[in-house]
Amino acid sequence: MHVASEDTAGHQALTCADAGRHGQRHRREAEVFVNRNVTLENIKCYGFDMDYTLAIYKSPEYESLGFELMRDRMVSVGYPHEMLRYTYDPSFPTRGLVIDTTYGNLLKVDTNGNILLCSHVVGIQEILLEDIHKYYPKKFIQRDDTDRFYILNTLFNLSETYLYTCLVDFFTRCTRYTKCVKTFHYYGDLFMSFRSMFHDVRDAMDFIHNSGTLKEQTIKNLEKYVIKDPKIPLLLTQIKEVAKVFLATNSDYNYTEVIMKYLLENNTNPGSSKKSWRSYFDLINVDTRKPLFFAEGTVLRQVDTDTGKLRIGTYTGGLQHGTVYSGGSSDIVCDLLDVKGKDILYVGDHIFGDILKSKKRQGWKTFLVVPELAKELQLWEEKKNIFEEMKRLDVFLAEYYKNLDSGNQDCPDINAIQTRIKVLTYRMDMSYGQMGSLLRSGSRQTLFASQLVRYADLYSSTCVNLLHYPFNYLFMAPPVLVRPFPSHVHENKIRQVNLGIFINNPRGHCSCGFFRCLMSQHLTLLHQTSQTILS
Ligand SMILES: [Mg+2]
Repeated sequence: MHVASEDTAGHQALTCADAGRHGQRHRREAEVFVNRNVTLENIKCYGFDMDYTLAIYKSPEYESLGFELMRDRMVSVGYPHEMLRYTYDPSFPTRGLVIDTTYGNLLKVDTNGNILLCSHVVGIQEILLEDIHKYYPKKFIQRDDTDRFYILNTLFNLSETYLYTCLVDFFTRCTRYTKCVKTFHYYGDLFMSFRSMFHDVRDAMDFIHNSGTLKEQTIKNLEKYVIKDPKIPLLLTQIKEVAKVFLATNSDYNYTEVIMKYLLENNTNPGSSKKSWRSYFDLINVDTRKPLFFAEGTVLRQVDTDTGKLRIGTYTGGLQHGTVYSGGSSDIVCDLLDVKGKDILYVGDHIFGDILKSKKRQGWKTFLVVPELAKELQLWEEKKNIFEEMKRLDVFLAEYYKNLDSGNQDCPDINAIQTRIKVLTYRMDMSYGQMGSLLRSGSRQTLFASQLVRYADLYSSTCVNLLHYPFNYLFMAPPVLVRPFPSHVHENKIRQVNLGIFINNPRGHCSCGFFRCLMSQHLTLLHQTSQTILS
């Protein structure tokens, strides 16, 4: 694949070459990664989410704000004042974790529900392996049990994740409360379960969003909480020259207007004419209630942009430029813009609400924004010696087994290699933070990573990386024998292909006596296998 030059991309000040001058790490951060082919020339319409997609919130300032507002809310409804001692720790939560509301544990799992990491008490007191077996004898959860397990999918969930672990920490350590079995705490006639704490945190989260508290604080100090990226208006302007553009956000009109004005008005290059933020879009949809938006949707109403109030009745007319709509559905968007699902590239940060649903229900092309990717790539570069050593261990293993077959009774001693792999995995995980990487635990991929591979056609750390590619570009996925995450692959399921046996989950490789293992496939970051314009 060729390298986009300044001429071919046609983007001043935003070229791959510029990214390259800042070294390999910056180059990789500027890439768009590919899971499935997307021909930009065929895209007739680009859709954008707002929060954490066009509007990137500053981390950890924004998560700290959310944490403090929720914590204060919990205290105001009766939780102990000692809770006020807790402050947000950005090194702890990772997106995509699962809360077990029965035991108060925080779990990192793979696509099948196998537990990769388990934490109960805040800090580094991770549950030991024996304890995991005590709670989860099969080291496995039925993650479809949504009454019990809650997946923390969004970046908004980071502060919620940490607040919940703080609560568990408090009630576990506080001597006034007595632990009863594995699920409850008593204090006099007060009875606290991990499940009730979880629901209280959820309620606090809903409160700060629905009451407008979080938005109010954000608007008061936009510079502190929102990244004002001058490339956003440039991106939207250039897309609008070749395709239709719409905004579909769950936020209400008044908040959307403040944020988009901040991002798009007075944020262009000197000398360029000032435009209304609404002129960047062909259609603006607020209050979309995704993921419902990608199914039956809600009533489509017009917004009075003078007052911010909704007009009465259901809107049934055609597209009116400059009009802002509330509610509606993805089908209505297609009708109003006169485009089909396959013509749309939708850009969002929510793996479930934006990407999975638009892909599964509507067949849209999808682009997932993963802000954490910048750090993941940086650490991947810094710690790649660890993975190099793991690959070498795999070569040692192959040496042990190369002259053995099913008729052989010898059992090579591979304990030292297994121990070393565990040590390396732990070191690698801890370099990302206390709950490890968003994408992997050692050589095993997380649930988030599997969903990313399955539902996001493209992904990158920010949507402005689209500026590095011409709008007729073919994003081409590399050819692979099988996808890393087939739909119904099960733990330790082995595929035999001709003379080789291919294993999808390397955890079981030492006990099953295999001939050849494509472990190296799993020892690469997901995005390393993606073909990009910059390589
Ligand atoms: Mg969002």
